[in-house]
Parts: sequence; structure tokens; C-alpha cells
Amino acid sequence: MSESHDLNGGCASPTPTAVSASTAAALMRSPPIKPWPPVTPSMPESELFAFADGAAAAEVFESGATGYAYNDIILLPGHVYFAADDVRLDSRVSRSIPLKTPLVSSPMDTVTESAMAIHMALQGGLGFVHYNNTVREQKKEVDRVKRYESGFITDPKTLAPHHTIADARDIKARYGFQGIPVTEDGRMGSRLLGIVSNRDIEFIRDPQVRLGDVMTRELVTAREGVTLEEAYAIVKESKKGKLPIVNGRGELVGLVARTDILKSRDFPNSTKDKVGKRLLCGAAIGTRPEDRDRLDALVEVGVDAIVLDSSQGDSTYQLDMLRYIKNRHAHLDVICGNVVTRSQAYHLIRAGADGLRIGMGCGSICTTQEVMACGRPQATAVYMVSQLAREHGVPTIADGGVSSIGHIIKGLSCGASCVMMGSMLAGTDEAPGEYFYKDGVRLKKYRGMGSMEAMKQGSAVRYFSEDDRVRVAQGVSGAVIDKGSLRRYLPYLIQGVKHGFQDLGVLSLQELHQRLYEGRLRFQVRTPAGQMEGSVHSLYTYERSAV
Ligand code: GDP
Ligand code: 5GP
Repeated sequence: MSESHDLNGGCASPTPTAVSASTAAALMRSPPIKPWPPVTPSMPESELFAFADGAAAAEVFESGATGYAYNDIILLPGHVYFAADDVRLDSRVSRSIPLKTPLVSSPMDTVTESAMAIHMALQGGLGFVHYNNTVREQKKEVDRVKRYESGFITDPKTLAPHHTIADARDIKARYGFQGIPVTEDGRMGSRLLGIVSNRDIEFIRDPQVRLGDVMTRELVTAREGVTLEEAYAIVKESKKGKLPIVNGRGELVGLVARTDILKSRDFPNSTKDKVGKRLLCGAAIGTRPEDRDRLDALVEVGVDAIVLDSSQGDSTYQLDMLRYIKNRHAHLDVICGNVVTRSQAYHLIRAGADGLRIGMGCGSICTTQEVMACGRPQATAVYMVSQLAREHGVPTIADGGVSSIGHIIKGLSCGASCVMMGSMLAGTDEAPGEYFYKDGVRLKKYRGMGSMEAMKQGSAVRYFSEDDRVRVAQGVSGAVIDKGSLRRYLPYLIQGVKHGFQDLGVLSLQELHQRLYEGRLRFQVRTPAGQMEGSVHSLYTYERSAV
């Protein structure tokens, strides 16, 4: 989990981008900034001086001629009068989906399937399951997320007395479940005879021993109709790992797991539905006619938000799809994009978008700007679009180009409601794919959805039309370093963002945005030397720990 850098090898610092001489000169010439808003008695003295320093976002980003990347800008510190733990990061990813953590995972096939989406939601963010797969596969991934902490497991894996210890171990290996109810015919809805847990079988060597001979028969059960709170109380009282739920005929109708009680205690910020039971899950689809079937399949398993996935979102295809979804599933939040200009955003907002994804060509695996000559540096894109979206009450997602905690803070400071990440989350245990070693370093594959490799697998529809005979890739495939589990990594990112807010002297995302639009959040554009100075330098080698 640590990277070694050899500065002489030249791989360490971000490449500084030049600020044109005329822009720099224009910025320097801008008139001195008057303290604004008017001084109030409650305003800390330190803030009065802050207004006379740096520049407001509008002065930096609205020049028109220059677009800034995250690395081009820096925020001036504010006044610290609270602890980092006091910072609240509550936000929204779309009109009706609040988040406690403003972080979401990208719908990419090396980033988000069920494990990623579950952990993003558990820690207060949200995952968007990719669609570079069959409808059935994508539906299954979303279904897994929705069932994860369902409270009542309504279709537990079950076995029959004639099944063997090998069968029970197989379920454990495949799904990770330990407590397996044993019913008369091995199915749900049949009479419950016992339960097989790890303790019943761990010391038995012969895998062919039948479960009927080893299962626990004296069971604590609850009757159908029991509330979740009552069931949890029984689990606590009985100290059992699983509580089977049975009907009047003694037939198994559900199961409650002890770990689920612990999970809700360990993850108080999780992103759940209003009843507070099921985790929320997003998914991406395209804008082709066949994506309508995909949409229906996802709605069937309870998807909560749909991302219309396109690198250029301002198209009649997307507008048609958006209207179609709004007519058919009015309750569903639809996040449109990607966009980087106000006019792109305006078309989608007017058509009813519930959220906007901002970013074109800034992703780490992305070659759109090189190949298509279209896009925008991300800090400017986020500022320009978010400002318009805010006027219409539409949350925005700063998508891509994030390779540090500082970039997350900058995305939010430019007006985004939350930040979407690909490369930052790829390489974690929860990302799809297996780890492998190269030159002694533990890596996981990470690839653009518009890379030749991913397109061959199915995402071609997103990046070029089916009729195109010559494929033009807009992404690359590569690998990222092992970052361990999201269980440690996300808290690290969240805590880092809180520390950043503390340095800025803002207690919440709402306050950050208020200051941004009042001109009280102060920015500066960094020269290439400023960028160099702001990253690690002058060392022969150094180590950076990810967590
Ligand atoms: P543990 O031994 O208490 O950790 O429990 P398990 O290893 O059996 O895992 C239980 C977790 O898996 C809980 O969060 C359940 O909600 C979840 N789960 C989902 N479906 C099933 C299922 O079919 N059977 C079991 N046993 N658990 C399930
Ligand atoms: P990252 O977080 O790695 O910098 O960027 C992830 C984002 O890049 C994704 O959320 C998506 O918007 C974008 N993206 C993913 N694959 C491709 C691709 O192949 N080409 C382009 N242009 N963008 C991509």
C-alpha cells in the first residue's frame, strides 16, 4: 500500500500546466477586492482580511479564455475554530437522494459491481453498477446490493438433511454465509428441521457426512409477522447467529442474521431508503432502444437512481431517454451527462434531469480530449455547470480527474455536490477483478470504458455507433496499485476531506458552497513553479502510504 517514487525518474509530481502570460497578467491587474458581504458583528475578524486576499471563484473561472484543472488552482485557508470531526459532509447525489458522504463510484467494469456499491452505500456514499454486461448480470449485481442489509433475508440459501458437509462448505466458499437452515426438501417454504453453522462442522474431517447427522435441532425461531425490532431483540437475547422465521406449519419463511444488527451499528451513516432498511444503489444504462429493457429489469430489483452514461450527454438520444424514463418510472431519479458547458447542462435540466455528471476528458484512463479535441479542464467545468445547476436545484457530480484527497476537496469547492471516482477506487478489494503482481507490486486492472479492450466486451455503444466500421478508442487500459479494503480506505478519504474543510474554516458542504457563491471562498491560480512547489520535491526518493 505504499508507493516509491524516484524523483530523478520523473514520475513523482503532477505535471504542472502553464498559465498563459496574458491570463496571469489579467489576474494580477484585477482591481483590489472590496470586503464583501458587509461586515457583520458575528464575522470573525480574520475574515475581514481574507476578502482582500486571493480571488473569488467567479474571477478565476469566468474569464472564458482559460480553463483550469484541479492542479492549476489552490484554495486559501480560512479561520479554524472547530475540530475536524465536527465537519458534516451531508450532500445530495440527485434531487431525492441524500448522502452523508459526498463520494460515489463510477459505473465502470473495473470499479463498480455489488461489493463496491455495498461498501460505498454503507459508508454514506453511493455506487453505480456498470452495464458492460448482460441485463441479467447487471440486474443480479443491483439485486445483491438491495438485499444486502435487508433485515429479513427472504430467500436464504438452504439445504436438506441428505446434503453433506461438502455442500455446506461450498455455500460458505461461494457466498460467504455460515448459518444454513436445513429444511425437509432443502428449499425455502418447506418444514424447518435444523440449522448448520460453522461450529457444527468445523472439526469434522469427512466431507461426506450428512447434515441430518450434525445439524443443530433445538432452534430458537420467531413466528412469521414478527417485526424486525422484535427479531433483533430475540437474536440479542438468544445470542444466536441466525434466527429462522417460520409460519404456523413450521415452514421456513425467512432468516435474520446477527451480523446485520452489528452492521447497522457499525455504519450509522449508510445510504438507505426511507424505511431505513435497504441500501440504495444506482446503475448506469445507455440511451439505445435496448436499454429500455435494461431499465425495466433494474427497476424490478429496486434500483434507486439511473445514470444515463454518455461521454457527451447533450444529445437528442439522451433527452428522449430521459423523457421516456420520467414517463414510465416517475419515482426514479435520473442523472444525466456527461456535460462540461452551461448550454449542455441547460438542455438536460430543462428536460427534467435530477442530477448532472460533469467531466469530459479529465478521467485518468481517458483520451477523449486527445482524440476528439473536445472537453474542458475539470475545475472550470465543475464551477460553470454547478453554478447553473444550483439555480435550478439540481445536484452535480464532479466526475473524473480525482487522484488525491485534495482533488475531492477542490471538486466540492468548485460547486459539486459530490465527487465520482474511478481510479481512486479501482485497486481496492471491493473493485471487480483479481490482484496480480508486476515487478513485485500488487496491482489490479483498471480500464476506460471506451478503451478498445472494454469496448470489445460490450461498451462499444457508449463511445461510437454500431455502424462505425473503424473503432476509435477514447480510453486506455492499465493497472492501479492495491489500496486494500474500502473499510479502511473510505474512512481515510472522508477524514482527509474533513481536515481540508477544517483548514478552509468551513463546517459543512452547505457552508462551503455558500461561501463559494458569496465570493468568500478565496482561490488562486498556481503558476507551474507554484504547482511544483506544492507537490513533493527536492527529494531523491520518498514513500507515500495510501492508507
Ligand atoms: P456470520 O457468520 O454471522 O457472519 O453470518 P454469515 O457469514 O452467514 O453472513 C451473514 C450475512 O450475509 C448477513 O449480512 C446476511 O444478511 C447476509 N445474507 C444474505 N443472504 C443470505 C443467505 O441466504 N443466508 C445467510 N446465512 N446470510 C445471508
Ligand atoms: P478517474 O476517476 O479514473 O479519473 O475517471 C473516471 C471517469 O472517467 C469515469 O467516471 C467516466 O466518466 C470517465 N471514463 C471512463 N472510461 C472512460 C473512457 O474510456 N474514456 C473517457 N473519455 N472517459 C472515461
